[in-house]
Amino acid sequence: MSFSHLVSDIGFRDHDTSDRSSHLSRPSLRSTTQSYARSYASTAATSVSISGDISSQLHGGYSHPLARAWQAERQLTKSMLIYPLFISDIADEETLIPSLPNQHRRGLNKLVAHLTPLVAKGLRSVILFGVPTAAGIKDALGTAADDPKGPVMRALRLLRRHFPDLFLVADVCLCEYTSHGHCGILREDGSLNNGLSVDRISDVAMAYAEAGAHCVAPSDMNDGRIRAIKLKLIEAGVAHKVVLMSYSAKFSGCLYGPFRDAAGSCPSFGDRKCYQLPPGGRGLARRAISRDIQEGADIIMVKPASSYLDIISDAKEIGENMPVAAYQVSGEFAMIHAGAKAGVFDLKTMAFESTEGILRAGASIVVSYFTPDFLDWLSS
Ligand SMILES: [Zn+2]
Repeated sequence: MSFSHLVSDIGFRDHDTSDRSSHLSRPSLRSTTQSYARSYASTAATSVSISGDISSQLHGGYSHPLARAWQAERQLTKSMLIYPLFISDIADEETLIPSLPNQHRRGLNKLVAHLTPLVAKGLRSVILFGVPTAAGIKDALGTAADDPKGPVMRALRLLRRHFPDLFLVADVCLCEYTSHGHCGILREDGSLNNGLSVDRISDVAMAYAEAGAHCVAPSDMNDGRIRAIKLKLIEAGVAHKVVLMSYSAKFSGCLYGPFRDAAGSCPSFGDRKCYQLPPGGRGLARRAISRDIQEGADIIMVKPASSYLDIISDAKEIGENMPVAAYQVSGEFAMIHAGAKAGVFDLKTMAFESTEGILRAGASIVVSYFTPDFLDWLSS
């Protein structure tokens, strides 16, 4: 069955072409009112027009050769690894991140030179995180997240041009771009406004897809964002060629410390305990995984990895027919480095043990800061 038939089968609203091209080429909107208006209009349209089972949408999940490879389970290989990149808005920046050994924040002018040897060694995929630093760039809505001149939007276009075979994942969240550092738009009482956050997050995901991301990966944990993103991808006619990877089970905890240093995404008040999962919240994790599969996720992710091997196993059991990803987070990486530096164990041995443990638990994709090392250590 063709995609167009499938779409008409689920009662998809008919678009005229001029309408769609204006949607796809829209400029980044900086005004609060405009941003809200666009989000409300878009979400209202999708929520009333699609009545079928959204989990019927499978093509996006295997649209790219790497995404097809991810459908198989194997020993650790280079194609299972996604390398995190912190993209600064200072074009010439190349700064070591003190709490994250050997990892840098890099501006656009440093990216190609950094990645060229890694791609030659077999790097298949990167995940992009934006690090906006300009004065006054952050606001309550995270407007800079999808600014066409912002670091992630520009990096997506640059990397697509320079490395046509590199699979580009865009992390989708607002916390790097909001003045308050939270992962969505807030109510006056400081809690997340779920509806507005989902509207905004799904617009940002669309912008990244339009800029060239092969995969969008929302890490914000707002309820319902997978469905909203999938609907907008369908509406724009690109759902069959964009992978939707959900951070389904993302636990709160102290292991993200070095990442927050790197991305400058620490909340200015409070914490993320009301939207990230509580440590030990296994039932909630299982519910979130089931929900995201129903809402149209192509890949589900568990984060952190090594301390949640039981949840990775749960994810593989619940999503037995789909790829499971695990994020070996900054704190896990830093601890392995610290142990090796103290002479407790050998870095390479521990990196393998940790990563292979994650695979044995059920993951077939690992987001890892060890990726450049593994490109040297692995033969394929
Ligand atoms: Zn966030």
